[in-house]
Amino acid sequence: MKKAQFYHKLKNNIVQCVLCPHYCIIKNDDFGKCKVRKNIDGRLYSLSYEHPVALNVDPVEKKPLYHFLPGEKAFSVGMAGCNLKCQQCQNWDISQKGPEELPTPKVSAKEVIERSKELNCPMTAYTYSEPLVSLEYVYETAKLAKKQGIKNIIVSNGFINPGPLKKLCRYIDGANIDLKSISDRFYREICSAKIEPVLETLKVLKQEGIWTEITNLIVPTLNDSEKDIKELVEWIKENLGTATVLHFTAFYPCYKLLELPPTPLEKLKKARKIAIESGMKYVYTGNLPDEEGNNTYCPKCGKMLIKRRLFSITENNLNKGKCPKCHAKIYGFWTY
Ligand code: SF4
Repeated sequence: MKKAQFYHKLKNNIVQCVLCPHYCIIKNDDFGKCKVRKNIDGRLYSLSYEHPVALNVDPVEKKPLYHFLPGEKAFSVGMAGCNLKCQQCQNWDISQKGPEELPTPKVSAKEVIERSKELNCPMTAYTYSEPLVSLEYVYETAKLAKKQGIKNIIVSNGFINPGPLKKLCRYIDGANIDLKSISDRFYREICSAKIEPVLETLKVLKQEGIWTEITNLIVPTLNDSEKDIKELVEWIKENLGTATVLHFTAFYPCYKLLELPPTPLEKLKKARKIAIESGMKYVYTGNLPDEEGNNTYCPKCGKMLIKRRLFSITENNLNKGKCPKCHAKIYGFWTY
């Protein structure tokens, strides 16, 4: 537990958290919506600080990040709690509980970095649930990692205020932001949130020069129409550019949407086709094997550059970040 940043004291031991756009007003002995931040005697505390719920080594492709050190391992840290209540959440067993409701052994920021180094991971990922509501722990760990030459990546819903995000950006190298839909109605009805702050986060990450990829989980009947996909792609094109890496991933029935079917591969392929035809250069399908949609191709000459199978790289033809055939620059964070 650590005293939280980003809150104001109000009267009668009440506090207001300003970390995310919920701006929770929290009475004494009560929690914010994320269940991570608690008011104790008029002071706000982060309960997840140095108490992760999951530590694993994952391929960076699993985040998914396809243009950020492909083939490398990410030491992955997850904390309990989330500020969204998405009905389609695939990690609901940790995201919809607070740190006090789950086994969370103490692991200091220093220990996280020591383990990253022991396991030869060139990056630390803050992932699984929503890392940004555990900002204090992520900030301290990322700062230590950076000092030791380890990269930091966040996998986030993007629902955070710009001030705290900019502070964290000093130590962040890469991000995957879940853009759940381009519809504010979807955010309000399915996720108990709103879209505008997420779009703002994407713009801030671009301004701050953070390598950012976007995931859109396609949920049958809820955000899978051609109109939904076209509008989402148009927003990305106009605001972030055609070189933005975009992943369309498959939903599996879970949490509160058990009655919906899994996303068919054909839906993902269709979304990818729409995005490519509208000018997006790097578009992928995910969560399902797809001979074409999992690979990276040169947007200029079409040469296959990186071949993937599940989360592994089976062929890599990139040459110093360029296509070996037509020498076009391929946007990304490469080591080769
Ligand atoms: S971070 Fe948590 S406590 Fe703070 S405003 Fe968001 S949901 Fe509320």
